[in-house]
Amino acid sequence: MRAQILTAPGRLLAAADLPPPCPGPGQVLLAVRACAVCRTDLHILDGELSEAKLPLIPGHEIVGTVVEAGAGVDRFALGDRVGVPWLGWTCGVCDYCRDGRENLCDRARFTGYQIDGGYAELVVADQRYCFAIPASYGDVEAAPLLCAGLIGYRTLRLAGEGARIGIYGFGAAAHIVAQVARFQGRSVFAFSRPGDVAAQDFARLLGAAWAGGSGEMPPEPLDAALIFAPVGALVPAALAATRKGGTVVCGGIHMSDIPSFPYHLLWQERVVRSVANLTRRDAEEFLALAPKAGIKTATQTYPLADANQALAALRAGAVQGAAVLVP
Ligand SMILES: [Zn+2]
Ligand SMILES: [Zn+2]
Repeated sequence: MRAQILTAPGRLLAAADLPPPCPGPGQVLLAVRACAVCRTDLHILDGELSEAKLPLIPGHEIVGTVVEAGAGVDRFALGDRVGVPWLGWTCGVCDYCRDGRENLCDRARFTGYQIDGGYAELVVADQRYCFAIPASYGDVEAAPLLCAGLIGYRTLRLAGEGARIGIYGFGAAAHIVAQVARFQGRSVFAFSRPGDVAAQDFARLLGAAWAGGSGEMPPEPLDAALIFAPVGALVPAALAATRKGGTVVCGGIHMSDIPSFPYHLLWQERVVRSVANLTRRDAEEFLALAPKAGIKTATQTYPLADANQALAALRAGAVQGAAVLVP
């Protein structure tokens, strides 16, 4: 099978022709139909996340069709279309797994990081971490739901019930979360790179009440802010835009250092917190909500062989919505 592989951090991906993987007990073999490109993939390529298996096939927003089932597979049948997210395996016995926080499992393994992912024609996945894709979505449009959508949804949930939601970094996650927030009757205030008029127009198109640069103040104080851009300086900026008692949620897996800031930005019970990974419950809830809320994804497709171009476009901020690889 054709695949794009990472052999060492800091390198471009290389095209490879590999033997097809074989599903073990409880695993399914999927023919990949589409795999979205996530900012986390850039952090892995750059070595900012340092626990990748090598060589590695990246990709953790996979839509595929079951073409072979290992022993004991009972959740899916041949021909079923399923999605594979970032969370690829958990131990089931650690304190976190046992109290419903499997996203923090001590021994968790992640797709496209410790498990080969979807930048390939075929991928093997544990059936327990695969999810049926709502029928109303095409393969390409469904792919970004599996990380941008899922982790974006968890980020919004952990922001609380506030009515005015700020979103910093208007990329793949933000463009989905903005639609969820609007569906829930909340107002969205979008912050992009200063001067990125295209991103601001895109945010307004998706229902944002206001859009501006990340250094600007919104017209009203925020109840909560979600940060999806990997820029630590956005933490004090978001705190300054958030009202008393509000929460700033960092939704990315990596961020540049957060600069020091005066205590009064945090004072008055403001909260800064992060979001890590997802649980299977998040996936089930969000994939049920997405069609009900009429969530649409904006995608730019690239052939699998052009994975490096897709990653470069993401790095340059040149992708509106999500980049998706198609084998
Ligand atoms: Zn565990
Ligand atoms: Zn991701």
